[in-house]
Amino acid sequence: MAGFKVVVVPSNSEGMVDLAALQRAASKATAGLMITNPNTLGIFERDIVKIASIIHEAGGLLYYDGANFNPILGKVRPGDMGFDIVHLNLHKTFATPHGGGGPGAGPVGVTRSLERFLPVPMVGYDGEKYFLDYDIPDSVGKVRSYFGSVGILVRAYAYIMSLGIDGLEAAGETAVLNTNYILSRVMKEKIFELPYSGRRKHEFVLSTRKLTDRTGVRALDMAKRMLDSGVHAPTIYFPLTVDEAMMIEAPDTENLYDLDEFVNALVSVAREAEKDPAIVKGAPHQTTVGRIDEVKASHPRTLKLKWDSPKPKQDKRV
Ligand SMILES: *Cc1c(COP(=O)(O)O)cnc(C)c1O
Repeated sequence: MAGFKVVVVPSNSEGMVDLAALQRAASKATAGLMITNPNTLGIFERDIVKIASIIHEAGGLLYYDGANFNPILGKVRPGDMGFDIVHLNLHKTFATPHGGGGPGAGPVGVTRSLERFLPVPMVGYDGEKYFLDYDIPDSVGKVRSYFGSVGILVRAYAYIMSLGIDGLEAAGETAVLNTNYILSRVMKEKIFELPYSGRRKHEFVLSTRKLTDRTGVRALDMAKRMLDSGVHAPTIYFPLTVDEAMMIEAPDTENLYDLDEFVNALVSVAREAEKDPAIVKGAPHQTTVGRIDEVKASHPRTLKLKWDSPKPKQDKRV
């Protein structure tokens, strides 16, 4: 951390960066600000240019976390929003929704003025062939392994080439449309709350708080019960700024039938929570593996990573 510390800047009632709070937090000691746009609530930071100038005036850098890049594909470039550094989570935006739980990889892009600090090696070109260039005097040096998860890079490259520029833009637009379709259908049911008032792009985060207070059924229970309907459960308890959070984001690949199936599953679980909370709290019931002990599963002393081979049986006739 080089002596720096993390300062959290709060959101305003719309769910965007609170500009006054950002202004108060920014000072000569500011190294930079890291944000996603659209942010984790799925809301586009309309004041991004103002945010950039507050950080730049303090002498800091603006870092783009590319985790939510898909809805703005073909619409706006991070550099034009004022970002100095950008990483793209290729495993998210380019071919693997939610990263698929697998490895990730992503290129880091910087403005011209930061280029000389990039890690080595860089790919150079001598007019005839490409080569790995280690001769960059101000480089921060080598950062971990160079190649990373190459498979993800190949997959993202193939995805980008097969869709083309128009296809990528359409993928982003369709993700926004799909998510807003789910949002409007779910909110019509008046079961859940939607904290913050901003317009959503590719994802939204609802709260099950009121239903949970009434029935004792938590977001976790409802997500588990949705597995019994054969749909992919939403992300839960993220971001931490929303109580009993359920984060719903529909990729561009879902068709109307699947979107309806998802909404029906969510709504029927909520109704079931009112009528028969015990069923929901014991879910999932239809999956091969039931509810796992997540604490035990992540504890190195209790986590079993291999099968114990059975002792060979003694043959008494020999
Ligand atoms: C997914 C996500 C991350 C983590 O990214 P990975 O590349 O999957 O590790 C970080 N920040 C935000 C806002 C995200 O949505």
